[in-house]
Amino acid sequence: MKGGPRITGLHLYVEGFISHLNIQEIIRYLQRWMKGSDIAFRGNFFRHHLSTRPKGVTPRRIQRLAQELVFHRIRDATRRDSGDRRPMEVEVAYERRRIGQEDFRSFGILYDGFGLQRIFSGLISEDERYLNHCHIIFTNQLLGTWDEDDHRYHARVSVYGFPSLISTTGVVEAPAKPREFYLKRPLGIPLEILKDELRGRFIDHGDSRLTEILKGYVIQALFFQMTGDPFCDDPQCRLYNAHWQEELIRAQLDGKYEFCKSHREFLNRLAGLQ
Ligand SMILES: [Zn+2]
Repeated sequence: MKGGPRITGLHLYVEGFISHLNIQEIIRYLQRWMKGSDIAFRGNFFRHHLSTRPKGVTPRRIQRLAQELVFHRIRDATRRDSGDRRPMEVEVAYERRRIGQEDFRSFGILYDGFGLQRIFSGLISEDERYLNHCHIIFTNQLLGTWDEDDHRYHARVSVYGFPSLISTTGVVEAPAKPREFYLKRPLGIPLEILKDELRGRFIDHGDSRLTEILKGYVIQALFFQMTGDPFCDDPQCRLYNAHWQEELIRAQLDGKYEFCKSHREFLNRLAGLQ
């Protein structure tokens, strides 16, 4: 496993209101390995990058940005192209609020993850568009990517790239719940009873373990940028690409160890410990 350019600036952002996210705990966690890097929380992604633009932000620019965001909403998960339908003003107004209001509480709209990533990437200033800068955004919206095999969008926890996006709603919604959930749900068993029966086997909204889980996804984003490969085959390793809630819980919370030997050695080298 070869490392790419050294990351000198690691920038964390949020987008929308996210409960149970302790950014300072994530920063302390990263500092174990990224000792020479400047790790900072920059708050809301839009506010940070729009306010640092030399020419300021015009209402026209915000309007255009809001329209682009609407364009990347997925209305029909079975269609790759949502057509050239003109965005409705109510949708554009929603996106304008999302851009302007830092603690925007609405969550769960499904966006094309790579489309969203392109929009965010376009807002990052010239001098931070180098691979020694790593930008990671936590969003409360849902990210989808198109699957060529079954020709539909699937929700994802994360979309890695420049910048990397991690969806806190995706932690709950993207990996599948235990099979019993899907077998028993159509039988009319009330959701709360079913959730009670399967307690501990999936992550729900408002789960206090969210920060601990997100540490692993941030490490995946770092590996993507440093090596091009964010994933690992070892189900106990935090880099395991979980498709089921039970896999996510094992990799991020209940594993026998945090990282497999090879990822642990990479991180230790990064920290200068060996
Ligand atoms: Zn591993």
